[in-house]
Amino acid sequence: MTVTLDDIRAAAERIRGHVVETPLLRDELLSARLGQPVWLKCEYRQTTGAFKLRGATNAILSLPPEALTRGVVTASTGNHGRALAHAARALDVPATVCLSRLVPGNKVQAIRDLGAQVRIAGASQDEAMAEVARAVAQEGMTEIPPFDHKAVVAGQGTIGLEIGTAEAVLVPLSGGGLAAGVAVAIKALAPGTRVIGLTMENGAAMAASLAAGHPVEVTETASLADSLGGGIGLQNRVTFALCRALLDDVILLTEAEIAQGIRHLGRAGHVVEGAASVGTAALLAGKVVPQGPTVCILSGANIDPALHARIMAEAA
Ligand SMILES: *Cc1c(COP(=O)(O)O)cnc(C)c1O
Repeated sequence: MTVTLDDIRAAAERIRGHVVETPLLRDELLSARLGQPVWLKCEYRQTTGAFKLRGATNAILSLPPEALTRGVVTASTGNHGRALAHAARALDVPATVCLSRLVPGNKVQAIRDLGAQVRIAGASQDEAMAEVARAVAQEGMTEIPPFDHKAVVAGQGTIGLEIGTAEAVLVPLSGGGLAAGVAVAIKALAPGTRVIGLTMENGAAMAASLAAGHPVEVTETASLADSLGGGIGLQNRVTFALCRALLDDVILLTEAEIAQGIRHLGRAGHVVEGAASVGTAALLAGKVVPQGPTVCILSGANIDPALHARIMAEAA
């Protein structure tokens, strides 16, 4: 394995005090309905609103001193970009986020507010990524990618150490940094626990890649689970092999099922984004049948409030 339980334990030591140990709360309604205890790992309450702070913090703290002086760089506009900006500022390391000029102004400002340098480069995500490569080659910055990186996977895996005994752990799945890290921890500690990846029906790159047996590209489509979009990289080095070796199953959810998950959690006071609701959505839809204590990882909170209100107001 490229990432081991020892790596995850070392990551937990490193990031202690820099991240929140989020609560594990019982979902009373689902537990009663399904006849098995259902627990919610409330990672949406993590600083910056998503678990990504764990991986970003571990990756920065794993760098040698000379790399810290030259700074870190990414092209992510989403939860990883926020996490890297926040972690870098907290650790007094310069961070640069390269964005295309199509990224909306409010997102650009949000990243600046977190203390990162923003570089506007080109008119596409590909051009923003080319600027990252240039900053690495010419300015000696270190790229911290959102998932395909050992220290990032180990950081996300620290969630697995906080989950306790379960029959199944339901993990939102995109690039697979979260699923790979959690699966390494869980399978090392309790090999009989099922680790199930959940994602949306359309444009799920890891699901398509696992089915094909190698990394493939998929067409991106809009989804309520927007944090689960994007490719896994045709040259994927870490997460594909770990997900292939360790995940017991991958379950796909429709947009209606994801909305149902958001509503169910919202009624219990958990305001989460679509990506965070997929475990609960799978239980509600009967796509995962619990056979014992079941943990859903609620991965993030960053949903547009107007969209959340609209989903809550829909019937069903
Ligand atoms: C990034 C992210 C995921 C998916 O994580 P991967 O490591 O890319 O699989 C799930 N939920 C939220 C909220 C995220 O930000």
